[in-house]
This record gives sequence, C-alpha cells and structure tokens, in this order.
Amino acid sequence: MAIAFDIGGTKIAAAKVGVDLVANEIGRVPTPTRDYDAFCAAIADLAGQGDEPIGISIAGVVDPRDGRLTVANIPCADGKTLAADLEASLGRRVRVLNDAKAFALAEATVGLGKGHASVFAVIIGTGIGGAFVLNGRLVMGATGSAGEWGHGPAAAARTCAALPIVRCGCGQPGCVDTLGGARGLERLHRHLCGVEADTPAILAAWQQGEPDAVRTLDVYLDVVGGALANTVNILDPDIVPIGGGLARNAALVAAIDAEVRSRTLGRRATALCLATETGPEKGLIGAAIHVSETLLP
Ligand SMILES: [Zn+2]
Repeated sequence: MAIAFDIGGTKIAAAKVGVDLVANEIGRVPTPTRDYDAFCAAIADLAGQGDEPIGISIAGVVDPRDGRLTVANIPCADGKTLAADLEASLGRRVRVLNDAKAFALAEATVGLGKGHASVFAVIIGTGIGGAFVLNGRLVMGATGSAGEWGHGPAAAARTCAALPIVRCGCGQPGCVDTLGGARGLERLHRHLCGVEADTPAILAAWQQGEPDAVRTLDVYLDVVGGALANTVNILDPDIVPIGGGLARNAALVAAIDAEVRSRTLGRRATALCLATETGPEKGLIGAAIHVSETLLP
C-alpha cells in the first residue's frame, strides 16, 4: 500500500505497510540534520525503486496550506516543502504528517482507540503533544495545529502554586509544554523544592511518598490534568490514549486520569486516560493510513 517513514532528530526508520496495516521494516539510518540534499537522498535510498506512494511521519508541524515544515530538531528541513520536493525528485506521491498526528491515527485505527468514534491521543515524553481523530479521520485544523494542547498558558488552579514562567519553543511564555513533559517535571521540581533530579528519580521518590516529590507531583498533576480537562471539555472524546516516556509509569497515568476525570464537566465512571505504546511502529502505521486516506481511491 505505501512505503512509510518515521523521521526524528536522530534516525529515519522505513517500512513497507500493506493493507493489513502491518509495518515490515526496510531499514533505518541516522538522520542527516544539516544537509537537506543528504536528508532527501536518505529517504530516496530507503524508498527504493518502486512506485508505491510514500507516507512520512516527522517530528515537526506541517502547514496544510502550503506544506511547509516547522521542525526544530532537523534544521536542514525547517521551512522546506518536503512532500513537494520529494514528489518532484522521485516522481512518486508523497504525504508528510506530524508525528503526534500519525500516532493518533494509528492509535485510533489499530490501538486503544479501535472501535471508538472520537479519540484524543496524547504524547507525554520529553515534551507533550496530541491529536484528535473523529470517526476514523484525523482532524487537521486550519493551520495543522489541532490537538496541540501543550501550547497555551499553564495554570495551577487547584494548588494555587506559583509556576515558573519560561519561554516555550513556540515563542509564547509559560506554555503547558514547558512544565508537562519530562524536562518540565524536572523544572517544576527545581522551582518548587530547589532539588535537581531527573524524571525517573522524581517519580520513584513520589511513589515512595517523599514529601518534596509529592508536592511537585501534586502541582504537576494540577497543571497537566487541568490542561487535559480543558481539552476534554472541548472535544469530549471517548478515550484518551497516552503514549510517550512518562506513560510507561502506570501510577502516573492513573493519577492523571483521576485528576482529569475529577475536573471535566462530563462525568465518567470508568477510566478515560489509558497508557499506550508510542514508538516508530505507530508513526509508520499512521503515516501509511494518512496516505490511504488522502491519496488512494
Ligand atoms: Zn508553546
């Protein structure tokens, strides 16, 4: 059906994905981040000589109006029209999709969202992201940023904590994204308790009831749970699968779920936020689904 790519700042993974939505890996290479010609050549090499359409999941935002990429960790591709450039050089049809959106499509189709009409898929990793799939179709939005719940001002309405205000990668001050991922949790711990620790250590201390970590996680859950509850109120999804590094901590996901469900307008008796796997395979499958949705009859 398609040759699919999952492209991050360190590696490019490629797979052949058939109508069964199983990803059969072709290979992986380090990402050329400084030389755009080398970057495109690496994709062309992995794609090979066939004529299947190409689907790409990439760690950046794609503007649906002109196809231009905003991708901070692959500087050579930033501002480029990757899909159009590859179509011109390869003579094949190409679709490029943000990685959170690819994850959401895969999650809604073959993951925890399978069988649900509305799926808001969330990533809590180094930073945070998300995307919304309704009736099997990705909601792209006018500018390609639908579902990006991390980019709005953070608030600590329940704990009334004074939050550190840091400029976000998007340019705005005090975004949820600056506090909601692993780097954000560490920043919050430093700010609230004056302690330098990494996220695994903070989470382990929290689970052991250490008072500083308990305080930090209380504020973290306030910030992240509040922002997610806002989004859940707007979208009212059937399910919120959460992937990313922090989702591997089951106690944290359960605490986020409890916080969100206690703060949404619609009451739910069963879990809404559930841990799932991210990883290249979801990106590859999501990129292939996007190709079939937008290119195939
Ligand atoms: Zn932001």
